[in-house]
Amino acid sequence: MTNKKIGVFGGSFNPIHQGHINSMLTVADIMNLTTIKVVPALQAPLKLPTEGPTPEQRLEMVKLGVREYPEIIEVDEIELKRDGTSYTLDTIDQYQALHQDEEIYLIIGADQFEKFDQWKGYKDILSKVHLIVTTRPGAQLPKNKEEFPEGLQDIVEIFDYDQATLTTGKSITFIKLKDVNVSATDIRKRLRTGRSVAQYLPLEVEKYIRDNGLFNTIGDKVKDYKELTMYCVDFLKNKSAIQVEAFDLTGLDQPSEFTIAASGTSGRNTASLAENLIRSVKDEYGVFPYTVDGEKEGKWVVLDYGNLIVHLFYDYVRMEYKIEDLWREGTRLS
Ligand code: ATP
Repeated sequence: MTNKKIGVFGGSFNPIHQGHINSMLTVADIMNLTTIKVVPALQAPLKLPTEGPTPEQRLEMVKLGVREYPEIIEVDEIELKRDGTSYTLDTIDQYQALHQDEEIYLIIGADQFEKFDQWKGYKDILSKVHLIVTTRPGAQLPKNKEEFPEGLQDIVEIFDYDQATLTTGKSITFIKLKDVNVSATDIRKRLRTGRSVAQYLPLEVEKYIRDNGLFNTIGDKVKDYKELTMYCVDFLKNKSAIQVEAFDLTGLDQPSEFTIAASGTSGRNTASLAENLIRSVKDEYGVFPYTVDGEKEGKWVVLDYGNLIVHLFYDYVRMEYKIEDLWREGTRLS
């Protein structure tokens, strides 16, 4: 007999913020969950490594962030203790083995639901647990079956406004939150540019970040951005990237002082240039980029090192955008 309903809320929590906490508390209330396990990932499966706190520091922030709610939220280190990339499917298998008489509800935001059919074993997941999808600013909940992620459409039996019944015997429930418009990415940016984050973070998490100097600028380690730029240029040329060009944009109204554009011969080649460059810069300078965008498709991958932004294109996309036109007033570095 099933008596307990357990929620599972995973993520990178880099750092944990009010959007996460709002989601957990609202879902627990509406769905009558006995407890929610918040599960920090060792490394989010779809992300390349970026600059930031260690897994232990992310864990500590999660603990501080949920400390006020011991009766409903429990921190679980299950993914941090497992080697390799964290996959939700593995976590669920471990839970099922441990909690056989309990019903498990996986909780995600609408942004994650939009790409849920890219998750490893997503159909398997949906044959083992129920899914709860919450609203999140910038992402839409589906209004009809055709708006579900493509890979899910054939297992949706009935969809009725806020509930879908699946052919696997499980369900998907959609929940509208009083939205908190924030992401961990926004918070990291705000911290690096010295803007206030108070309204988005639990007080103790903010204090921990300040006390430990987390999310400080890459510039503390890099010092000479022109040198880093030329290092990247040489690396990309050695890896046979096409048309490697670098610009010094100092004094111009641009988001960074240095920028590089280079092309790969295919989406896969472009993504692999990005991956290799990230690794090499980490070895040489000890830093990962603040953010990496577009590596999944490999059409236009952007590595943000703060004062240096590297654009890697699949060559035909680069021709379409002619991004170098933006940098005409800068100095071309050879
Ligand atoms: P990042 O900006 O680094 O990608 P994030 O803010 O999206 O991070 P994650 O740790 O990746 O945070 O997210 C964990 C889970 O929390 C995901 O299911 C995500 O959809 C959900 N989530 C994150 N922010 C919000 C929010 N503001 N409202 C509702 N759900 C959210």
